[in-house]
Amino acid sequence: MNQRRASKPLRIGGVTVGGGAPVLVQSMTKTDTRNVTATVNQIHELEEYGCEIVRVAVPDEEAAQALASIKRRVRIPIIADVHFDYRLALAALRAGVDGLRLNPGNISEPEQVAAVVEAAKPRGVPIRIGVNAGSLPRSVNTQAPIAERMVEAALEQIHLLEDLDFDLIKVSLKAFDVPTTVEAYQIIARKVPYPLHLGITEAGLPKTGVVRSTLGIGILLYLGIGDTIRVSLTAHPREEVVAAHEILKGLNLRQRGPTLISCPTCGRCEVDLVSLAMAVEERLAKLDKPIKVAVMGCVVNGPGEARYADVGIACGRGRGALFRRGEVVRTVEEKDFLEGLMGEVEQFLCSARR
Ligand code: SF4
Repeated sequence: MNQRRASKPLRIGGVTVGGGAPVLVQSMTKTDTRNVTATVNQIHELEEYGCEIVRVAVPDEEAAQALASIKRRVRIPIIADVHFDYRLALAALRAGVDGLRLNPGNISEPEQVAAVVEAAKPRGVPIRIGVNAGSLPRSVNTQAPIAERMVEAALEQIHLLEDLDFDLIKVSLKAFDVPTTVEAYQIIARKVPYPLHLGITEAGLPKTGVVRSTLGIGILLYLGIGDTIRVSLTAHPREEVVAAHEILKGLNLRQRGPTLISCPTCGRCEVDLVSLAMAVEERLAKLDKPIKVAVMGCVVNGPGEARYADVGIACGRGRGALFRRGEVVRTVEEKDFLEGLMGEVEQFLCSARR
């Protein structure tokens, strides 16, 4: 894996982005921002699942006003997502948001951008230049390949901000197409020092969206590029956060929460392993301690195949063997598979705390 690209560190609310800080997980609320209670509840839930920065849509003045109440009731940094109307960015800043996301495809008038920068600068609020392949400004060279057009759009606005002596900048260049996205980020990574937020836009429903996002985000992280990530899914945002942490775990960049290892099953399996693995996954979902848990389909091969797991269960007909690092410690009846395994998880975490 490549060494991580050195990016300029940025403070967003209480967290540091870039400059060698851990890659952070972002998501976006899907509630009506004007509904403060629903939005706050969703942010709290996302935080429980490991979301570290959250973006909220600001489609109108009422939503911008609601940000002040939302901000008071949540701990993680809030980024206001603003399109078309720069005055909403000004209202979001007055409401106390920790960051702004502007799309150069629809807010690019120099005097409007200048007004936003003028208000963001004294507050120390960073701006993400969020380029989207589907909404590029008209000023970019339409003959150039799409990745280059995205970079051109970002650079135009970066230069605008730099000319205003503003460098609290983060950049994203999202497209639906994975190779285009990867290429765009590779180009911009060589051109500017700012932290990069990664994502594949409109990636789709969880089954395909997670694959597309993992490819795009995973390739870039492997190349050492990226400071924050968001997996965009047509699903509840908690799915985005879980998937993002799995990407980071898969690349050994972060180890938040448990890792579930489960065998694919084969003709040796004599239990409903899929249901058991899903139940275990649900129970593990909110734990934030790193532990590797294995759910294996047979006693003969299970413990050996998952010897790198901290704890696990190898299921046979009617009875299962609970094991730690490949060594069987006790057996349980089929009705106790789930509780037996979760008891081992609990014990492991308690002993790790001591
Ligand atoms: Fe098959 Fe057992 Fe391996 Fe699962 S652990 S794939 S059931 S051999």
